[in-house]
Parts: sequence; structure tokens; C-alpha cells
Amino acid sequence: MIFVARIRPFLTQWLGCVETCCRDGLWVYRNQCKLSALHNYSCQMFRYVALVSVLLSGATPPLAVRPERGRPQPTRPSPTLEDAVTGSHIDTSLAAPSAGAAELHERMLTFMGGHVLPAEAAYLAYRRQAGSDDHVVPPVVETLKRTAQQQGLWNLFLPAESGLTQLEYAPIAELSGWSNDLAPEAINGQAPDTGNMELLHLLGTAEQKRTWLEPLLAGHIRSAFAMTEPDVASSDATNIATRIERDGEDYVITGRKWWASGAMDPRCAVLIVMGKTDPAAPAHRQQTMILVPRDTPGVTVVRDLPLFGHHDQHGHAEVRFEGVRVPVSNVVGEQGGGFAAAQARLGPGRIHHCMRALGAAERALALMVGRSKTRVAFGGPLADQGVVRAQIAESRLEIEQARLLCHRACQVIDTAGNKAARDLVAMAKVAVPRAATAVIDRAIQVHGGAGVTDVTPLAVMYGWHRAMRLFDGPDEVHLRSIAKAELGRTPVLSPAAP
Ligand SMILES: Cc1cc2nc3c(=O)[nH]c(=O)nc-3n(C[C@H](O)[C@H](O)[C@H](O)COP(=O)(O)OP(=O)(O)OC[C@H]3O[C@@H](n4cnc5c(N)ncnc54)[C@H](O)[C@@H]3O)c2cc1C
Repeated sequence: MIFVARIRPFLTQWLGCVETCCRDGLWVYRNQCKLSALHNYSCQMFRYVALVSVLLSGATPPLAVRPERGRPQPTRPSPTLEDAVTGSHIDTSLAAPSAGAAELHERMLTFMGGHVLPAEAAYLAYRRQAGSDDHVVPPVVETLKRTAQQQGLWNLFLPAESGLTQLEYAPIAELSGWSNDLAPEAINGQAPDTGNMELLHLLGTAEQKRTWLEPLLAGHIRSAFAMTEPDVASSDATNIATRIERDGEDYVITGRKWWASGAMDPRCAVLIVMGKTDPAAPAHRQQTMILVPRDTPGVTVVRDLPLFGHHDQHGHAEVRFEGVRVPVSNVVGEQGGGFAAAQARLGPGRIHHCMRALGAAERALALMVGRSKTRVAFGGPLADQGVVRAQIAESRLEIEQARLLCHRACQVIDTAGNKAARDLVAMAKVAVPRAATAVIDRAIQVHGGAGVTDVTPLAVMYGWHRAMRLFDGPDEVHLRSIAKAELGRTPVLSPAAP
């Protein structure tokens, strides 16, 4: 009895502490779930660690602004559109996914683990056997497409088809980035077709939709987007020199393009070509986009461009257009509307690339961790070396930061539209491939010589994500627009010293 009486004050204090910690822990747990849109598996471990550390220490964890208990929280006005874009308020409003979206994510996870990753060996074996000049899709991809369709994992990228917001689609697309050659196409979410489908969905005529959008949505054909030209700096699209000249009821196209992704694939049936219809018009009204069936006379697919020596299955083609004649009804949108159409096409396309790159970074980190635990050097596993641990930790940090930026851009697209999200998308387009290449680079290093061969997916992953810093606009062009927006911004408080 004396003992119980002695320890009672400590016991009461301890129980109080446990109660506080549990309450805080649950709050943090819920908010972590919300922040990572609930279904972000990579954050799962983090949430548990945060929960456990809060339960043990009562410390305030990162990523959550903890409310003061017992006091009404100051209400702040809902962020305006401007706030959401400029970040002048702390944004804690990432929406949780609907039950349907969470269920699709679960299905995608099962599909990746049960079908896609096990199919990689067959895919690689087919491509090795066929040789790098072959661009026929390995049969296993068609099998995966059928399975994905049966499971409702199809056309999830297009809100009008799937009902998903970009924020809901993000973690699903991220999973597809674990196997970039197979999974995006398996769910009909692969570039450049998704961008082309978005464009036709937004601007296509009924006839264009019937002829091209429907077979693309069905996964029966593939397409390419031909804007970049070898002879001009194409990161500045006003330079595009290909001519599209009106001749009666036709347009005649003459020019040379390269990096037309997808055009090597025999299933590629149509190219969306950007070119000049009116060189005398104001700079942003000179260009037009036009649909060119790949088998039109005068279209020559010259060669495939290797990426760091590697030939992708669907390829990146140099294409010549010599007096190519198509009807005026093939214009996408309106004559002179090429720039506006490019913005409509590239906004969602860029953020989808970012989503997938996060998945690649997660896979690289998982490979790095696995290798560091099993590879023994200097008397112990590599994971025992502080320098390797630092690389692992830096990688986790960078992925989480990049993901938050990507998801924030998604949220603004969902709530305020592509235009309002432009700066955030540009930021994500710079930050995410940087993070992905840094993580993949470290994973290669931890794998030693194996990292640069084809015995791991890391070398190909590195090539793709390094190229991502060029395609859909080089980093510098995005940095230029981010800086321009920043220079025009009024800070929330005066920064001058009194
Ligand atoms: C794998 C891959 C796939 C691609 N897929 C497609 C596709 O499907 N369709 C398509 O049309 N194109 C595609 N591209 C092409 C890509 O979009 C272009 O390469 C890119 O836009 C840059 O154009 P450019 O190559 O002409 O480089 P340039 O315009 O010549 O620019 C070269 C460099 O100059 C620097 N620079 C440019 N502007 C500025 C600036 N304002 N400030 C500072 N520095 C600057 C940058 O470092 C830039 O990388 C693809 C490219 C790759 C690598």
C-alpha cells in the first residue's frame, strides 16, 4: 500500500502524459494521412515513425503544425486563388482521396506487384532478342493492357474519363513510374499519347475525336507529338520553322522534326505537328497544330535517336515532312492557336511526368536500401557505413519534398485550373527530376559496377530522368518563368529593415 501511495503521483503524471501523447499522436497521424493523400505508401513508414516518436517523446513532429489544445484556433480566411499559387499562406488543405480513388490505388498496387513487375523479365528478354532497331511492342504489354482494363485501371489520367482529380491520380501514376517501360502503357497513361488525348479531348472536333481520340482511348493505336526541330532552339517555340501553308482545302507541310517520341512504334498512326501558318502574325499567333496521319505521302521517319546509347521501344524519331498534304479539317483548335494548344497539352503532361518520376525515385531508393543491407565491404554491410546512411536519408528527404510540391501543384490544378497552377507545375518540373536523378545516381553508386549495366533498371532510369530535365521544357526555361513570376510578386509583409 505504501508503495502504491508513493508511486501514485508518478503514475498519474505518466497516465496524463500517455493520454496527451496519444491525442497528439492521433492528430499527427491523421494529418500525415491527409497530407500524403492517405494512400501514399511511401509515407506509411514515416507516419508510423512520427506516431511512435510522438508517443514516446511528446515532441512535435515535422510536417504538421500542431494546434494549441484548449484554445479556439484562429480562423483564417480560406486561401484565395492567389494565395494558393504564391504560397503566402501555409497550405494545409491537400484533399483526401475519395473512397473510389483509394480503392483504385489499392488495385494499382496489387496490379504492379502481381503483374507488372513480374512481367519485366519477359519484356527485357523480348527486346534483347529483337535488338535495339526493333520497335515492336513486346506481347507482354498487350497482355498487361487487357488485365488492367478488366480491373478498371484504364484512362485514369483523364478526369473526364476516370472521375479522378489530379491529386487522386498522382499516387496511382507514381506507382506506374516504378516500371516506366511497362506500367504507364499498361494503364493507357503513357506519354506522349496522354498529352495528345488531352488535347483532342479539349480541342478536337467531333470527327477528330471519332478518328483519333477514340482509338487512342481504347489503346488500339499510338501517336506522336512533333514540335522540336534540329535546326532551331526549340525550347523557345517561337523559333519553330516548319511551314504549314494553306492551299485550297488543304494544308501543305514542309519541315524537319526530331525527338518525336513514339513515332518509331509501328502502332503510331498519327502525329500532331506544330508549325508556322502565318510568319507575319504576332509571335504567339504564328503557330498551328495539325493532325498528320503517319502514312501520309511525304512523311519519312528517318531514324531513332538513342537516349545515352539506349533505344526506347516506342522510340524518339527524326521525321521529315516534304510537301505533306492534309485537309484543313485536320487543324487542332484554330489556325494560329498552336501556342495556346501547347499550353493546354503540356500542363497536365508535365505534372504526370513528375508523378511517375517520384515512383522511379522510390524504386531506386528501395533498391539502394536493399543493396546496402546485403552487400558486405570492410567487415560489414554497406548500410553500416555512415556515408551510405546519409545518402539514404538525403534521398528520402528529397523524395518527400518533391512529392509535396508535385501534390500541391495537383491540388491547385484541381481547384483553380491549369493556368493558376502554371508556376507550381514549373517548380515541380524542375524539382522532381532533380530529386529523381539524385536518388537514382546514389543508388547506382551503392550498386557499384552493377549499377551502370542492365542487371538493374537503374542505368535506364537514370537516362530517362536526366532527359526529363530537357523534355517538356529544359530546366532553365522553367526557372526563367518561375523567376519572372517571383519578380512580379508583392511579398505578404514589407521585408525592408526599419
Ligand atoms: C527523351 C526526349 C523525349 C522528347 N520528346 C519530345 C516529343 O515527343 N516531341 C517534341 O516535340 N520534342 C520532344 N523532345 C525534345 C525536347 O522537348 C527539346 O529537346 C527541348 O524542348 C529543348 O529544345 P532543344 O533541344 O532545341 O534545345 P535548345 O532550345 O537548343 O536549348 C538548349 C539549351 O539551352 C539552354 N537554354 C534554353 N533557353 C534558355 C534560357 N531562356 N535561359 C538559359 N538557358 C537556356 C538550356 O540549357 C537548354 O537545354 C524530347 C527530348 C528528349 C530528350
